[in-house]
Amino acid sequence: MRLGRIQITEYNEPMHRILRLITCVFVTLISNSALAIEHVSLTRDGESIHVDGKIVVEAVDGGLLIQDTRGVLWAITPDEIVSRDSDAVPFAPADEEKMSEELLKEFPDGFRIHKTAHYLVCYNTSSAYAEWCGSLYERLFLAFNTYWKNRGFKLSEPEMPLVALVFGDQQSYAAYASPELGASTSKIIGYYSLRSNRVVMYDLTGSDGGGDARGSTAAHINQLLMRPGAERTVATVIHEATHQIAFNCGLQTRYADIPLWVSEGVAIYFETPDLRSSKGWRNIGGVNQVRLQEFSRYVRNRPSDSLVTLLSNDDRFRDPRLAGDAYAEAWSLNYFLIRKHPREYLEYMQLLSEKRPLRYDEPEVRLAQFKSAFGDDLEKLNTEFLRYMRTVR
Ligand SMILES: [Zn+2]
Repeated sequence: MRLGRIQITEYNEPMHRILRLITCVFVTLISNSALAIEHVSLTRDGESIHVDGKIVVEAVDGGLLIQDTRGVLWAITPDEIVSRDSDAVPFAPADEEKMSEELLKEFPDGFRIHKTAHYLVCYNTSSAYAEWCGSLYERLFLAFNTYWKNRGFKLSEPEMPLVALVFGDQQSYAAYASPELGASTSKIIGYYSLRSNRVVMYDLTGSDGGGDARGSTAAHINQLLMRPGAERTVATVIHEATHQIAFNCGLQTRYADIPLWVSEGVAIYFETPDLRSSKGWRNIGGVNQVRLQEFSRYVRNRPSDSLVTLLSNDDRFRDPRLAGDAYAEAWSLNYFLIRKHPREYLEYMQLLSEKRPLRYDEPEVRLAQFKSAFGDDLEKLNTEFLRYMRTVR
């Protein structure tokens, strides 16, 4: 997600809740019982909540990570649990019909559903805009899947329909998003929530989206969003949808410790919009000019340990003063590795795709994993990286 020019990581469960789970070092991975439905009653902030879902992680202290039938992840601390039991009914994620029903229950006032092959677009703006989003996302979905397939990475079909919420205006978007985004809500035009598994946005052609007239047809919407200045806005919408696909097609697992230079680098790699093409997506893997320029500026004063700090942990992404450069370097490094070390890159992505939720690696482990794919000599790789990026136009 983005804060103005700067991006921060996709919205996550409050960290204290997750940390409480992680501190119980020995997380048990559930095998048999994952097939059954777990019923948990809990109290949170004085409210009684009931969750039915499959256990993703069970901590030794009784803390739970549960995925409900709509794909929402619940990190539940032991003290919140009032009661729990499971039955023999196998867990089944909601299908298109059930999911639509639940969405319309959650958003009763004027919301409708636009269905595509993989998406449910839940919206209260014009149906033309919902259709435009659905078609953009399907093209992205196809392009993303084809891209990895052609490189030998076998992705899987999403477990459930992918949900995109599209609000008619910024105010109603903000009302929904502020519990997740807090004070940053007004600066963020769209986001992917790891917790709810939804992408959330508002109609960008409305008056508060920078446009001056709402799009009434797909062609008109394209026209509005292809104007100078709108390119980055559309890129955000695509960027967030890319995260959603990556986390639902087996490239990455939600709440797993995927280094941000990878998850963000991949999202940026795909974010360049291609509104002219109605079927394909010609721009995938193209040079991201915005990020390239940012990286070129950064290189002038780039610290000598820049590669190591980028690979070791996510600190630079979480520091607003350093985040812009970290995103630019993340895109550049992914671009370089995909172009010059495709086999090793694939091997590394395979390794990351096998990571399970809530198991966090120390910086040394992250570095060791990187080296296991790309070799031990980071100095040499760094030199090659900088030399290559100087040739990119
Ligand atoms: Zn992102």
